[in-house]
Amino acid sequence: MATNSDSGHNIESARRALAARLQSAGVEQPALDARLLVGAALGLDLTGMITQAARYLAPEEAVRLEGYAQRRLAHEPVARILGVGEFWGLPFRLSEATLVPRPDTETVVELTLEIFREHTIAGRRPRIADIGTGSGAILLALLHEIPDAYGVGTDLSLSALGTAKGNAAALGLADRAAFVACSYAAALSGLFDLIVSNPPYIPSAEIPKLDIEVRVHDPHLALDGGNDGYDAYRALIPQAAGLLAPGGALVVEAGQGQARNIETLMTAAGLSLDRPPKADLGGIPRAVSARKMPP
Ligand code: GLN
Repeated sequence: MATNSDSGHNIESARRALAARLQSAGVEQPALDARLLVGAALGLDLTGMITQAARYLAPEEAVRLEGYAQRRLAHEPVARILGVGEFWGLPFRLSEATLVPRPDTETVVELTLEIFREHTIAGRRPRIADIGTGSGAILLALLHEIPDAYGVGTDLSLSALGTAKGNAAALGLADRAAFVACSYAAALSGLFDLIVSNPPYIPSAEIPKLDIEVRVHDPHLALDGGNDGYDAYRALIPQAAGLLAPGGALVVEAGQGQARNIETLMTAAGLSLDRPPKADLGGIPRAVSARKMPP
């Protein structure tokens, strides 16, 4: 059998052998992924892998690594294999019910913080809502940055909410974060200063064409935006408009080419546009915002 090539390897040669197999399978970052998977299978950080490079793998380490290798060769993302993804420099546990957090989504956090820092909230703690919170990535990144804020995350998936709650606890944010099962913002009341969302926005017919890592491994509930991709925005934007405090802001992630139509839905819901969308690192307008103007 050519495949089970990890027994008899030292750490360095196991890493190289795995990188070569991943490269032949067309995995995008074979060297990085091999390093992460070897490190996880052996419980070593980068320094440990370097200092122990010549150490041979124990049989159970080789078996564990081969399990990870098979999953990555089947295009399961590394974050799912490890059960943890990094977002805003923080670790997030993932589950089958949560998206792997994307670097593009950090644009939503950046724009929300820019808006927040321009705007003073007198005499009380800022309130944040995250609609469709998934692993809690956006909400918990914001709570991490705004130390006196209080936040609520909603999701249709109880499983995702359990994961988000665990992440809040692991990040030391449990006393400022609550999680509620509902459709979009349906169960929320009271006023919020910041409402954020990375809703499902892929048109249904596009889902079968997505990359295998997304199509097979991300939850479709978190991806599928209905026929034209805008179902979630049509539902959540009017709800959010009714929940924003005067001066508050709604910030949502947009799919490629969707920013203009989202702005139209925001103004139709009575919100005001006060700045252009913020582009992600690929130059795509990714975070779209609108304000509730004081009466
Ligand atoms: N950004 C994700 C993707 O490109 C989609 C996430 C979403 O629909 N909100 O696959």
